[in-house]
Amino acid sequence: MDYQQILNQIEAELSAKKSTGKVASYIPELAKIDPEKFGMHLHCINSGHYYFGSNNERFSIQSISKVFALTQAMSLLGDDLFKRVDVEPSGNPFNSLVQLEYERGVPRNPFINAGALVISDILISQLKNPKKDFLDFIHQITDDKSIEINTHVFKSEKEYSYRNAALLNLMKAFGNIENDIETVLDFYIYQCAIEMSCKELSKAFMIYANQGKKLSDNTQILSAQKTKRINAIMQTCGFYDEAGEFSFRVGLPGKSGVGGGIASIHPGQYSVTVWNPKLNPKGNSELGMFALERLTTLTGYSIF
Ligand code: GLN
Repeated sequence: MDYQQILNQIEAELSAKKSTGKVASYIPELAKIDPEKFGMHLHCINSGHYYFGSNNERFSIQSISKVFALTQAMSLLGDDLFKRVDVEPSGNPFNSLVQLEYERGVPRNPFINAGALVISDILISQLKNPKKDFLDFIHQITDDKSIEINTHVFKSEKEYSYRNAALLNLMKAFGNIENDIETVLDFYIYQCAIEMSCKELSKAFMIYANQGKKLSDNTQILSAQKTKRINAIMQTCGFYDEAGEFSFRVGLPGKSGVGGGIASIHPGQYSVTVWNPKLNPKGNSELGMFALERLTTLTGYSIF
């Protein structure tokens, strides 16, 4: 398969394509990014790296961090974890409150904000130094200790976190949050403010393409069985109320963030990350989805 030629074609198609998407502005610091940035990085298990654009530039990973948080929580806890958060698609926006009231404070899945806040609460109870341990985990799976948070993004989101605070208050009232609301909010916003490039995210996501093992040194980060489950949740819940559309168009498990990144994998084959800050109305990168759709169409392979 000539991946470089396929990426060249995707790059050419993107340059001719207009996006109607908008950069996220509810976190004011995110609105400062250049909307035209585009990066793509494909990391193949057998044949190395293919990329174009700003594949090496760091951006705010936002909700892509939810996959790493779930990975850490699943490596610490067994199936009990899923008493506090379900594994069903929500069909609702990422920051929605409505379902939570009906379902008595148990979020539909770990990739909507409510579910990720429960995972943050679990990690705070389990880890000695949650922020440091979380960042150490990212350093471990990327072999890169220079990855950090963007403190401006962190502060900016903290000032406007009314919805996430509301989700936490509601879940606390139902007895599904153990720690202080402020502490959980702070840790959740911290993990969202981590910055990584497409290249670094593809390296981190390689564990999901490679049965839970790092490609660089074969360390087993998560069991193959738990990795399979995370991939299943990415497939069904990774794009909020657009998870069906992403499956329909792209056909790979993946996770998006409001920073405009999408990280995705083809089990046993590759990990791939795309980045363009302009989001569609569901909060997913419009051109990012287009590029991934073209990848699975031009290669002729998806998981389906
Ligand atoms: N930090 C963002 C929030 O909680 C993450 C949302 C996202 O990337 N979808 O609103």
